[in-house]
Amino acid sequence: MDNFNFSPSSFKNIVFFTGAGMSAESGVPTYRGRGGIWNEYKWEEYACESAFRSNPDLVLDFHELRRIEALKGKPHKGHFIINEIEDIIKNTSIITQNIDGMHQRANSKDVLELHGSLWKMRCETEGTIYEDLDNGKYSSRYCDCGNILRPDIIWFQDILKEKVVQNAISMISSCDLFVSIGTSAVVYPAAGFPRLAKDSGAFCIEINPEKTELSQIFDEVIREKASNGLALLKKQITD
Ligand code: NAD
Repeated sequence: MDNFNFSPSSFKNIVFFTGAGMSAESGVPTYRGRGGIWNEYKWEEYACESAFRSNPDLVLDFHELRRIEALKGKPHKGHFIINEIEDIIKNTSIITQNIDGMHQRANSKDVLELHGSLWKMRCETEGTIYEDLDNGKYSSRYCDCGNILRPDIIWFQDILKEKVVQNAISMISSCDLFVSIGTSAVVYPAAGFPRLAKDSGAFCIEINPEKTELSQIFDEVIREKASNGLALLKKQITD
């Protein structure tokens, strides 16, 4: 696909908005659809506050497994292309729905994690965050205060952190290029972000091999996997 109807070299403020499809080529399974985690596990038993209260070790074991699986994968070409674009256009940020830390592993700096991070554990009593980007297993499941730690992620039925959502809204409202990659755009409030970008006047691009419910609102659709789609986009920016 070479016939873009835009010239990104004029863009000064880019937001990359990524979902589970961004990590698919890194070997991290999506949560829905074929091979998805929720076909194998019931989220009611592994990924919500009430499951954690009734069986914390089962829930923590599940998240430990997710970290071990994520560590088997690594950032792909597409993650590094975003990183290169960050160097070319300084005002570039990433808003991700992913919790796997793959953008950070590709050295991206300005990453807003909407749904938290698998690599952070939180003490509900003190609010302390423990972070370990390198190991699947945490050395302890307990805070120094003695309280059990929970993953600092948004589980089913959790509400997103207000400050994080406000930051995302502010970044999207002021960007002039919005690139949505690998998200099915069904989980709110994230699913409302492409519309917000469009209404705020940004040029909007979708990179996804499949049509999504929001495809029609984008100015340009690149029907490619993340790595190929980003390579095409970068070529357009640097040529
Ligand atoms: P989703 O699973 O609902 O949709 C994935 C989308 O990615 C689909 O539209 C699919 O067509 C597309 N896709 C598949 N392979 C692709 C590729 N190689 N390149 C580009 N696109 C590709 O994902 P979602 O919209 O992000 O929503 C799922 C929720 O689950 C999110 O909230 C996210 O936090 C969470 N989640 C995170 C991870 C992770 O951290 N890696 C993985 C799975 C789910």
